[in-house]
Amino acid sequence: MRALISVTEKKDVEKLARGLSELGVEIVSTGGTYKKIKESGVDVKEIEEITNFPEILDGRVKTLSPYVHGGILYKRDDENHKKTVEENNIKDIDIVVVNLYKFEESLKSNDVDNIIENIDIGGPTLIRSAAKNHKDCVVLTDPSDYDEFLEKLENNQVDLEYRRYLAMKAYSLTAYYDSVISRFFKDLTKKESEYKTYGLRKIEDLRYGENPSQKASLYEDTYAKGLLKDIEILHGKAMSFNNYNDLNIALELAKELGENSCVALKHQSPCGAAIGENAFDAYKKAYEADSLSIFGGIVALNGVVDEKTASMMSEIFLEIIAANDFTKEALEILSKKKNVRIIKVDLSKDMVEEDVKYLEGKVLVQDTDSKEDDFEVVTEVKPEKKDIDDLKFAMKVVKYTKSNAIVIVKDGKTLGVGCGQTSRIWALESIKNNHPDVDFTDSIMSSDAFFPFDDCVEFAHKIGVKSIIQPGGSIRDKDSIEKCNEYKMSMVFTNNRHFRH
Ligand code: 5GP
Repeated sequence: MRALISVTEKKDVEKLARGLSELGVEIVSTGGTYKKIKESGVDVKEIEEITNFPEILDGRVKTLSPYVHGGILYKRDDENHKKTVEENNIKDIDIVVVNLYKFEESLKSNDVDNIIENIDIGGPTLIRSAAKNHKDCVVLTDPSDYDEFLEKLENNQVDLEYRRYLAMKAYSLTAYYDSVISRFFKDLTKKESEYKTYGLRKIEDLRYGENPSQKASLYEDTYAKGLLKDIEILHGKAMSFNNYNDLNIALELAKELGENSCVALKHQSPCGAAIGENAFDAYKKAYEADSLSIFGGIVALNGVVDEKTASMMSEIFLEIIAANDFTKEALEILSKKKNVRIIKVDLSKDMVEEDVKYLEGKVLVQDTDSKEDDFEVVTEVKPEKKDIDDLKFAMKVVKYTKSNAIVIVKDGKTLGVGCGQTSRIWALESIKNNHPDVDFTDSIMSSDAFFPFDDCVEFAHKIGVKSIIQPGGSIRDKDSIEKCNEYKMSMVFTNNRHFRH
């Protein structure tokens, strides 16, 4: 038996080579791998002995030879194949061990020539050849498979099922590898193609999905930016499916609200959001916005959690506390709670630019909702200067709230969030129903989409709202504007809808 080993990640390769050698397998290797195995004292031959040709073009051509691929690809039970191989003096290759040039790592260099040089050609070719002819040639692409393989080889257990498993892993690797290369070229060219590639790599299995009966895993899109990219979990239990899903929105909103803002979030919608004088003030306001719903929720703070803030946070149960940073004292206080997850996240990072949704057999891809809002006053009464910040704040919060959504705010704090309703007026009414004791006098209201009728303005007036911000665009806009004029309320159009589902 003969194995061809050509690996960039040389972890455990000596151990594998030794194991193979002890089982009587002859080993052939390319330059660097050959050296490494040779140094460890295991018998190894240079690839040139098979190819009868030197490695050329700075390693661009090492194993791309019919002597190599013939030896991998020929069908052992096909008389014609056997004859061809014998006539041409091609030697069998029964095991291929390859992992690839570290293309992904080279992306960090931002040097196009260097990155391109790191596109592995011969490696994927070896992998694909061996995986295609897996019945006759085993392919190993992951060092974590070495031990199991050696054991199976020794015990004569390298059966078809196992070979298929390794072939599946092999093609997953080359598919992933090519997807990252494709994204690199996408960045270099303006032209779109009909293919869209995602370099998805599994990070971990999660305990379960949205519900305990659902299996789930976490993947990372290698090429994407994003706030969740390099989070540090400083303390607490492993993150769940719902934790990630909710934290995602809390971070996006906290980023959009800016420094010294805080978002409390439950089931995909904010329950409290605030902008404060400082981090503590922001949290205090977000907590007071809805001290009932925040329980068991997720808190994202655009700022540093200090001792005082941590003390207040530790008074209730929170699933996650995410912030730009935590002081030593704050960490000490919060770490006393076993169940809270403490997450450090850099909110100054760029957000993703694409939103992808898998449907039943179709995939939706869209730009993220990042167009700037207009600020067009459409009523006789203009909003007071001091209310402009609140109007913009209210619009940002409603943008991250499940539709149909209405948000009421005052002094940089939400007074109520109406989310996920099938009728817009119900979203507004739910705020009043859920917060019967809150005084909405002189408050500001936002809506994620236009008002189809003037009923929302009517209701808003009744509870004390003085100014409204909404996208506009209904054929009945006039009715809502007239109603505002009648009640001396101001209304602003953003000309930018913010549905979120
Ligand atoms: P080594 O460190 O042994 O010199 O090189 C190992 C790497 O070379 C492996 O990652 C393998 O995928 C890659 N490789 C093997 N054959 C070829 C080839 O013909 N062309 C290129 N570009 N890479 C190859």
